[in-house]
Amino acid sequence: AVTAPFDFKTDSKKYYTIPKIVEKPLNFINGAFVEASADQVIDVVNPATHVSLGTIPKFGATETRDAISAAENAFESWSTTLPRARAVILRRWHDLMIEYGDNLGAIITRESGKPIAEGHGENIYAARFLEWYANEAERIYGDIIPSPRHGVRTTVIKQPVGVVGVITPWNFPAAMITRAVGGAIAAGCTCVVKPSELTPFSALALAQLAQEAGLPNGVLNIVTGDAPAIGSALSSSFAVRKLSFTGSTKVGKQLMRECADTVKKLGMELGGNAPLIVFEDADIPKAVAGIMAAKFRNAGQTCVCANRVFVHESIFDKVVEGVVAQVRAFRVGYSLDPKVGNFGPLINPQAVDRVEALCNEAVKAGAKVLAGGKRGPGSGNFFEPTVLTNVTHDMSVCQSEIFGPLLPILSFKDEDEVVRLANSTRAGLASYVFTENYKRQWRLSEKLQFGMVGINDGIVSTPVAPFGGIKESGLGRDGSKYGIDAFVDIKYVLHSNL
Ligand code: NAD
Repeated sequence: AVTAPFDFKTDSKKYYTIPKIVEKPLNFINGAFVEASADQVIDVVNPATHVSLGTIPKFGATETRDAISAAENAFESWSTTLPRARAVILRRWHDLMIEYGDNLGAIITRESGKPIAEGHGENIYAARFLEWYANEAERIYGDIIPSPRHGVRTTVIKQPVGVVGVITPWNFPAAMITRAVGGAIAAGCTCVVKPSELTPFSALALAQLAQEAGLPNGVLNIVTGDAPAIGSALSSSFAVRKLSFTGSTKVGKQLMRECADTVKKLGMELGGNAPLIVFEDADIPKAVAGIMAAKFRNAGQTCVCANRVFVHESIFDKVVEGVVAQVRAFRVGYSLDPKVGNFGPLINPQAVDRVEALCNEAVKAGAKVLAGGKRGPGSGNFFEPTVLTNVTHDMSVCQSEIFGPLLPILSFKDEDEVVRLANSTRAGLASYVFTENYKRQWRLSEKLQFGMVGINDGIVSTPVAPFGGIKESGLGRDGSKYGIDAFVDIKYVLHSNL
């Protein structure tokens, strides 16, 4: 057996300074760290510096099947473990994430590039899902239905669905795992997780801490490598009864098709195209702060990012002026050290090319750049935070998910018009409204066709509320009391001759 890859105990800030995050290419299958041969690896690089952080296995269908078998074998025992015992382990896992938070935050930042404050913020957010689901584990209630006839009793019990495949993106390398896995494990399911190959080390670190917390072998497995091969092995396996996918709408659709043959349950957390609307009666400083938070967190790489900002024409100049001042104050650079920068890179060079092309296309079609507008500084995957005006809604910046630091600001005249434009997208994840008018707040929260509405706030994500989208943004919800529903089957039992 290979020893655990992370050493959190000896130095609380070790992972800020060591050159490589891991020494060996490892996965976690059936409670053991499994090493790949030297010719079967993927290099993982820091997106801000392009320096290698270590390698991970380039595994495929065979190792995924091993992991599924491990999860299948572990299921009988884990699914019958008392909810309270599951809760105790989840809570211990949460506590370890907090205890080693300095190191985990640094790992998140080094592999994803986000500023260190956001790395620490994500670690706490990620850990909170475990704490939340620890409590929910003990609240998976059934029902007794009033009898339809004499002598019978009709009841509903809830049982874990079985093995869950979990595929996660790179933009929140820890939180997107705990958000799905926390609910699955709390419900009594076992998991095979395929993290993004761009950010695999947070996943391995989480697995090591889960084991330290006492999670039995096989309940959580981590496989990295050839994404389509691992994805197909998960979606075609009959033993996997649910696929929880967080990522792009394009890959989500493909996985839904692949899962049709085994009629799996699906959890789909897909892309967004969030509108953020600022009405004439908004508190302007609050709206500016909301735009900054909703747009520029993680350099614009969140699924709930404000993708299109609509500002009422009567306050347009004031809001734009406030936003531009704050955008110019960002210090773009590698932000493991907050003294160096507070605005990080994009995940890879292709993302920079894509964002640059979107920006140039908008400018060519008449958009005006009020701040930013070009790549850099340095050779990392940086693109300046950018404000665009003179934007029309038919431009690609409004029609597609930008997933980068471009902020198109449009002006509008009336409520019906802006609601129509806001809803004119196939995405339906997050939306934001800034208005001090109480009636309008209610009206808009009902009219906006999105799974989440933030009113006078640019951040909606929290483990206590149901996160997820409608339309092409996905299926199901994560977090909150609704999140556990994704991982249980409902069984109706009729007792007769009573
Ligand atoms: P992506 O779809 O490219 O990748 C997501 C995951 O799927 C990664 O692990 C990747 O390796 C894997 N993958 C890629 N091709 C696959 C295939 N053929 N079979 C199986 N797995 C495959 O997305 P991304 O670029 O990592 O993440 C960005 C996207 O994720 C954005 O669209 C964003 O909106 C979305 N996202 C959504 C949420 C949400 O909660 N709704 C949260 C975060 C990110």
